[in-house]
Amino acid sequence: MKAQIETLVRLQQVETEIGQVQAALDEVADKIRIREEELQQQEEGFAKESESLEALKKQYRDMDRDLKNDQDSIQKSRSRLNTIKTNKEYQALLRGIDDLKKKNSQMEDEMLGFLDQIEEAEKQIAASKEELEKERRKTAREIKEIRKGNTEGIAKLQELKKRKESVSVQVPPDLMEKFMMIRKRFGNPVIVPVRGIVCEGCNMNIPPQMRNELKRYESLKFCPFCNRIIYWVQSEKE
Ligand SMILES: [Zn+2]
Repeated sequence: MKAQIETLVRLQQVETEIGQVQAALDEVADKIRIREEELQQQEEGFAKESESLEALKKQYRDMDRDLKNDQDSIQKSRSRLNTIKTNKEYQALLRGIDDLKKKNSQMEDEMLGFLDQIEEAEKQIAASKEELEKERRKTAREIKEIRKGNTEGIAKLQELKKRKESVSVQVPPDLMEKFMMIRKRFGNPVIVPVRGIVCEGCNMNIPPQMRNELKRYESLKFCPFCNRIIYWVQSEKE
């Protein structure tokens, strides 16, 4: 039983180490994710800016088309002037031409305003693009740096997993089943030392009788308080 317990202790140790290395790797993965999200936000901001510029340009094109249509109408009305018979109709047509001219003049003013806005937006976008490209390069550099520090952790994790396998095969299946079950119900650690009379899983004092039994390593013992597997280790105070 003593040998089995020692194997379980080794299994617990290697699993604890795996947990620590994995946590460190997760932290690194989080860092990378956060960095990527920050860049993504900037990308989205830039895409929105580009969209509003496109919308401005489209509005300008629409106005330009309307303006040309109106100019055509004016042209047509003018050529009809000579064919008009009555003065009333003639006046009406002239008024129509005049109204269109006024409208066009207003539209032209508006279009000039749009041109200013477009020019301003284009300048802004050029600056944003430069900023974004700088940020892309910076992010790529940073992530590469973060990953570099990670290689060691990944190698360590692989080595630990191999070690875990080699320890696991030494644990009898029924014992392994118990081990897994306890972990499932109570979490890590599954096996804890009793130093003196204190269970290190829950810091409770175990009954003296149990402590004597533990020293003999006759059978698997469980802490009556936290249900973990316990094993006895010599305390410095003893
Ligand atoms: Zn306990």
